[in-house]
Amino acid sequence: MTAVQHEPVTATVLAPNYHPLPVTITEGLGSWVTDTHGHRYLDLLSAYSALNFGHRHPALVAAAHAQLDRLTLTSRAFDHDLLLPFASRLAELVGPLVAGEPMVLPMNTGAEAVETAIKAARKWGYDVKGVPDGRATIVVADGNFHGRTTTIVSFSSDPDARTGFGPYTPGFRRVPYGDAAAVEAAIDETTVAVLLEPVQGEQGVVIPPDDFLPAVRAACTRADVLLVADEVQSGLGRTGTTLACELWGVRPDLVTLGKALGGGIVPVSAVVGRADVLGVLTAGTHGSTFGGNPLACAVGLAVVDLLDTGEPQARARALGAHLGARLDGLVAAGMLRTVRRVGLWAGLDVEPTRSGGPRTGRELCERMLARGVLAKDTHGRTLRLAPPLTMTDEELDLAVDRLTDALA
Ligand SMILES: *Cc1c(COP(=O)(O)O)cnc(C)c1O
Repeated sequence: MTAVQHEPVTATVLAPNYHPLPVTITEGLGSWVTDTHGHRYLDLLSAYSALNFGHRHPALVAAAHAQLDRLTLTSRAFDHDLLLPFASRLAELVGPLVAGEPMVLPMNTGAEAVETAIKAARKWGYDVKGVPDGRATIVVADGNFHGRTTTIVSFSSDPDARTGFGPYTPGFRRVPYGDAAAVEAAIDETTVAVLLEPVQGEQGVVIPPDDFLPAVRAACTRADVLLVADEVQSGLGRTGTTLACELWGVRPDLVTLGKALGGGIVPVSAVVGRADVLGVLTAGTHGSTFGGNPLACAVGLAVVDLLDTGEPQARARALGAHLGARLDGLVAAGMLRTVRRVGLWAGLDVEPTRSGGPRTGRELCERMLARGVLAKDTHGRTLRLAPPLTMTDEELDLAVDRLTDALA
C-alpha cells in the first residue's frame, strides 16, 4: 500500500474530544471504506461493533429506504405500526436468553439504555424489593465502560473519562472485574443490581474467568439482586452468540443492547429483560422523543431478521477461530505480547521491547493505516479488532497479512 498524505481535519471549529487517525472517509461498502484520495481500507473496527453487518448491508439499507418513503417519526405520544413488531421480534430473539418473561424498552444510544437499566433497577428496588428511598446501591466493575453521561462516568475507573465531571452520582460500588467473591461481598440489603459487561470491550476485550458470570448470577439470585448485562458492544453476534452471556450459560435479568442494533444506519438501543422489572417504568416516569421511532424500528427489525438466521453468529465463530489461530502465531513469533479473543473480537497488546516493532497501540494503528487497514488503539498498548461479521475469509487473511507487515 502507498503512504498517503492526509490533510488534518479542521481543528478550530470541531470540539477536540476525539483524536482520529488521519483519514477522511467518503464511502463504505461491506468490509471496505474509501477515503478522499480514493484509497481503500479494510475496516477492522466496525465503528466499535455498530457495523457488525458491514457498511451498507443491502437488507438493512433497503429497510431504511423503504421506511424513509413511508414514516420516520411519530414520538411515543402515538403508536406506529412497527413499534410492536420490533419489540415482539426483539423479545423473541433475546427473551429466551434473559430471566423471566421478557419486555422491551427502546431507546437510542447505548448510554441511554444503560441509564434506563439503572433507573429501572433503582425503581424496582424501591417499589418491589423495599429498599429505603434514596439508598439503592449498584455494584459495578473496575475497568468498566458503560457510556459518557454524568451518572455513568461517576462510577468509571478511568481518570480521563471521570475527572473534572463531578459532582458525581452516588450509589455505586466498584469491585475488581472477574472477582465474583468481591461482587458478593459488595452486595448488601441496599443493593438493587450488579451491572457488568460480560466481556469488557473498551478495556481491550478483557474476558473474565469462566466461573465469574455463573458465580455472579448465583450471588444475585441468592440476594434478590438484578444482574444487568451491558451487551451494547458484546451483544448481537460479535462473540459468536446472540448474547455474550450465552457463552457461560448465564441469563441476566436485564440486558442493554445498542450499537449493532442500529445496523450502522441509525442509533437504536434497547433494554430487554424481566417484565416485572421494566414494568415499574410507568407512563411519565421515563421516556425518549426518538426511542422506538419508525425508522429505528424498521432497521432494528431487519437486524433482528439477520440475527434470527444464526448466520452472523456462526460466521463470527468460524472467522474468529481462524483469526485466533493467526494471532496466536504472531504471539508465538514474538510480534505481539498477548492476545485475548472471543468470537470475532480480539484485543492485542503490542510487544514494546521488540526492536523495530510498534511501541504503542496508536503507532501500530498508524502503520496499519499506511497499509490500508483501519483499527483503533485503547489504553496505550492495546489494539482492538472487531471486523464486520460479514467479512470474507480472503478479506480477513488480507487484513492479518497487513497487520503482520505492520508489526514487522
Ligand atoms: C459503546 C458502549 C456504550 C455506550 O454506547 P453509546 O451509543 O456510545 O452511548 C455502553 N456500554 C458499552 C459496553 C459500550 O461498548
